Amino acid sequence: MPELPEVETICRGLRSRIVGRRIVGVDVLEPRLRTRVGEDFASALTGKTIAAVSRRAKYILIDLDDGSVWMTHLGMSGKLIWVNAGRRREKHDHIIVKLDGGNELRYHDPRRFGLSLVTTRAELGSLPHIKTLGPEPLDGEFNADYLYGATRGSRRKIRDLLIDQTTVAGLGNIYANEILFHAGVRPTARAWKLRRSEVERVAKLTPKILREAIRWCGTSFSDYRDADNQYGNFQKHLRVYDREREKCRACGASIKRVAVGNRSAFYCPRCQK
Ligand SMILES: [Zn+2]
Repeated sequence: MPELPEVETICRGLRSRIVGRRIVGVDVLEPRLRTRVGEDFASALTGKTIAAVSRRAKYILIDLDDGSVWMTHLGMSGKLIWVNAGRRREKHDHIIVKLDGGNELRYHDPRRFGLSLVTTRAELGSLPHIKTLGPEPLDGEFNADYLYGATRGSRRKIRDLLIDQTTVAGLGNIYANEILFHAGVRPTARAWKLRRSEVERVAKLTPKILREAIRWCGTSFSDYRDADNQYGNFQKHLRVYDREREKCRACGASIKRVAVGNRSAFYCPRCQK
């Protein structure tokens, strides 16, 4: 599932290519995503010029010159790729946005858990998807004081608190596990029991790990690709995620996996107390 670094990588890849381009046509081949693509989706985009590309949490926001915003969430397996219009279309290409200059944006999503809608800049902040989001971890608002406050009184496991989008926007299971490894905190630890020093390490390492992952263009397991349909490279740098029974790169102990809710948590029993 694409998380903040993957979505940020896609936005950076798209920005230089699509800002200033005019949308000359839209084909919705399969509207049945997590939320059905609106009837007016194609007409809302057609004829508009792309003004900006940005990100909020795991949402890709493409601003158009009339004040509207095309918002995309990649769900579990979505890709938003920039291709030459002549390239053969693939199965699971659900939305085709044709640009002047002979390129297309293609929304591809085998599992169809994604979302694609058009709203306005003015209304964006009041959409239920956006309204409830916590602070961006790359902004100063997400800091030790904030996270310490969020952990106090929370009986939840710290991993669960970190992947809750209302606590912090954009983290998912991969990066929550990685951050906790570097912080020396077990993913199963109860949030309220963490010491101030532990919370400080988590808060400080969160933007650091995310920035490093962005530098490596994100993590690819099965589906994730960037805007050019290329793999990310951070999977080579993972310390615990998806490394059950492999050796810890810091101490050599065997990495453990535990089921927490419906998602696995991974940790080193020696490095994480
Ligand atoms: Zn270790």
